[in-house]
Amino acid sequence: MSNKKEEKSEAAKLKEKLFVSKKNGCYKVSAEELEKADEFCKEYKNFLDNGKIEREAVAYAVAAAEKAGFTEYDRTKTYSAGDKVYVNNRNKAIILAVIGKNGTHNGVRLGIAHIDSPRLDLKPNPLYETSNLAMFKTHYYGGIKKYQWPTVPLALHGVVAFKDGTSITVAIGDNDEDPVFCVTDLLPHLAVDQMSQVMTKAFNGEHLNVLIGSRPFSQDEESENVKLNILSLLYDKYNITEEDFLSADLTLVPAFKARDLGFDRSMIGAYGHDDKVCAYPALMAAINAELPESTVITVLTDREEIGSDGNTGMKSTYTIDFIEDLAKADGEEVRHVMAKSTCLSADVNAAFDPTYASAFEANNSSYINNGAVITKYTGSGGKYSTSDASAEYMAKIRKILDDAGVLWQTGELGKVDGGGGGTIAKFVANLNADVVDLGVPVLSMHAPMEVVSKLDVYMTYRALYEFYMAKD
Ligand code: MN
Ligand code: MN
Repeated sequence: MSNKKEEKSEAAKLKEKLFVSKKNGCYKVSAEELEKADEFCKEYKNFLDNGKIEREAVAYAVAAAEKAGFTEYDRTKTYSAGDKVYVNNRNKAIILAVIGKNGTHNGVRLGIAHIDSPRLDLKPNPLYETSNLAMFKTHYYGGIKKYQWPTVPLALHGVVAFKDGTSITVAIGDNDEDPVFCVTDLLPHLAVDQMSQVMTKAFNGEHLNVLIGSRPFSQDEESENVKLNILSLLYDKYNITEEDFLSADLTLVPAFKARDLGFDRSMIGAYGHDDKVCAYPALMAAINAELPESTVITVLTDREEIGSDGNTGMKSTYTIDFIEDLAKADGEEVRHVMAKSTCLSADVNAAFDPTYASAFEANNSSYINNGAVITKYTGSGGKYSTSDASAEYMAKIRKILDDAGVLWQTGELGKVDGGGGGTIAKFVANLNADVVDLGVPVLSMHAPMEVVSKLDVYMTYRALYEFYMAKD
């Protein structure tokens, strides 16, 4: 018998040293690590099911943080190394901080993910009756392919606020006994015209009307009796009238729960991976970051999907204001702190999809199961509307991840001039900090059901944790 097979050729050895490995990441990790990934994702699925909208994700984060010893930040108090605090911004975004041994003196470590996802928001005046049907008018939020939303079972989530200062939370459609709602579509028999139109025309924003009822209130031949019946039911259950829709944040999201995907259960199919799939790892990294060198700040932000505008988005000053409070307590100026700060903008990238291979450039795409994806820049065209992580900062992140044995890869968002997109990275870069995107590759991004790999979710957690705990 020959042992030739076990001896690597010179070429094989040199390739190992010089080439970037393109092997499936599952070959590079131990069976134990795969098991840890599966275990980590059990609670992630629970987070998805209980955090379909940003308010619910914040409620989950507050409960988890308080259980782990975080307390609500009070700027009149003095904090010391190891203390854990949080700031709740309008129940729609949250900052979690773990005070480091060096406080803010050497800058802070930021991990920022977003907890809003594309969906169908109710218009301010949503309820109407037409042809014996009660319907909701919606205004979509974020980048959706509108044709994907008809005939998907939908759940209604959000809050209604009343003039007396009280409010109620709404979540209908997720439990088996709940009713669901849906956008209807035209039968193929009669869709000859529709099917010959371009996708953007065949299904536009005003087609996204949601069916919510069909029975009249009584036998009286009054007009709008079906609408009246719906309002009567809503009044009985929630004490709300039609005018109360004006002071509501109500939204329709897919009603189904997160599920294992594939015979091997290696993936998860769910609504809202973008970007809960980075928010959950960031939250867990914050909770497990015991006594870091520099203060670690995790932000679960809102409004990323529409460009980060608004008081709970990353264009708001809420994060920098908090860092300024910490800096002042340390006798530092916030601008000096930011100049020394580093950030992982934890957001998803598009995983290479072999069915749509022509949209990608294979050498610069991220792949399912190859670990957390680092995206040096996003944007579109000639690198417009994005920051671009420096060579030096990329080297720093490579070292942290490699030293800790974290599985990672790089990827651009599709091929050059194929479209584009952005993340919150540029807003952090504009505050004069070093930042790069790191997150999970996603198949079918922004669809009602998106797909990720469990191994990649776990590696994104490990990347964030090691970044938080790395020495200055
Ligand atoms: Mn995102
Ligand atoms: Mn997105």
